[in-house]
Amino acid sequence: MNRRKFLKSGAVATTAVAGTVAAPNIVTAQAKTFSWKMTNAYGPGSPFYVQGPGSPTDFIKMVDTMSGGRLKIQHFAAGELIPALEGFDAVSKGTVEMNCANSYFWSGKTFAAQYFTAVPFGMNALGMNAWLYHGGGQKLWEEVYAPFDIQPFPIGNTGVQMTGWFRKPIEKIEDFKNLKMRIPGLAGKVYAALGVDVKLLPAGEIFPALERGVIDAAEFVGPFQDRRLGLHKAAKFYHTTGWHETSTVTELAINKKAWASLPGDLQEIVKAAAAACNTLSHSWCEAANAEALEDLVKNHGVKTSPLPLAILAKLQEVTVQTLNDAAAKDPLVKKVHDSFIGFKSKVDKWAGISEGVYYNEIRGKI
Ligand code: CA
Repeated sequence: MNRRKFLKSGAVATTAVAGTVAAPNIVTAQAKTFSWKMTNAYGPGSPFYVQGPGSPTDFIKMVDTMSGGRLKIQHFAAGELIPALEGFDAVSKGTVEMNCANSYFWSGKTFAAQYFTAVPFGMNALGMNAWLYHGGGQKLWEEVYAPFDIQPFPIGNTGVQMTGWFRKPIEKIEDFKNLKMRIPGLAGKVYAALGVDVKLLPAGEIFPALERGVIDAAEFVGPFQDRRLGLHKAAKFYHTTGWHETSTVTELAINKKAWASLPGDLQEIVKAAAAACNTLSHSWCEAANAEALEDLVKNHGVKTSPLPLAILAKLQEVTVQTLNDAAAKDPLVKKVHDSFIGFKSKVDKWAGISEGVYYNEIRGKI
C-alpha cells in the first residue's frame, strides 16, 4: 500500500477514534510550507516602515515563528526588487504575494483608496481602527480592492502627523500664496486651492531642497522621522496641527490567489500578526515622537505652534468640498465616504466626552 492510500484508509478507519490515528492527515496538510515575497514602498532600513517594533520585517519574524517556519516571507525594500510604487500592481498580478505601502498611493486607480490611509480632517488612530475593525471599514476596503485581486489589512499606523517645517511661520492665509511646499496627495490639492505651489519630492530630496531654499516648507511625517531626515537643520518653524493626516494607516496588500492558497491557520496567523503590528508600530511611534519632539525643542532651537484656527477653517472648507466632489462622481467612493464620515461623526461625539476630557485636562499643563 502506498503512503497516500495508507493515509486515506487510516483516516476512514479511525473515524470512531478521531484525534488519534487521523493525526497523520493533519500533519501532512500542515507540513506544506510557503515561500513568499513581500515588497515595500519604503527604502532599506527605514524605521517603522521597514524595521523596528511592529514593522513589516517584524511581522515577517512573527509569522515565521508562529507558523513554525511554514510561512517564510522574504522582504524587499523599495528598489531592491521593484521600484517604490510598483507594489500594488505586483501584488495584483501575483508577481509578489505581499506589499506594504499606504493605500492612498493608489488613489489614482480609485479615489476610494484614500480613505483607508487618511483623509484630511479624518479620524485619529483609535477612530481609524474602530472603523476598520468594527465599523465596516475593512469590508469596504476588500470591496474596493476586489477588482484588483488584492486582500488588504491594516498593519501599521504612524498616529497623527505634523503640518511640517516652514522657513517662516504661517500667520495668515495670505502667507500660503506662492509658498513652495513639499506635500503629497490630497492635502497637496487642498493647499493648492489656497495658493500653495505644491512640490512632489521623494523623502531623500526634501532636506537638500529645503536647505537650499528650492522649497519654503515641507511636510513629511512627525518628529522622529522628520529629525531623521534632518529637516530641523533646514527650517526652524514646526507647525504641529495634523489636519492633513490625523493618523496614517500602513497597508498590507496580499494577492488574493496566494491568500486563498493558505490553510485557515496560516491565514489566522497573518491576520493576528498584522493586527499586532498595527498596535505595536503605533505605540512605538507615540514613544519615539514624544522623545524626538522634546529633543528638537530643547536641543535644536525648534519652535512649535499649531496652525491658526482661521486657516484651519479654510483648509477644512476646501477639504469637505474636495471629498464631496469626489464622492459625487463615483458610487463606490460615495459608499466609502458615507461610511467613513458617518462613523467619524459618531466616534467624534464619543471621543469628545471620553478621550477629549483627558486632552482638555493635559492641555493646560504643557
Ligand atoms: Ca505625511
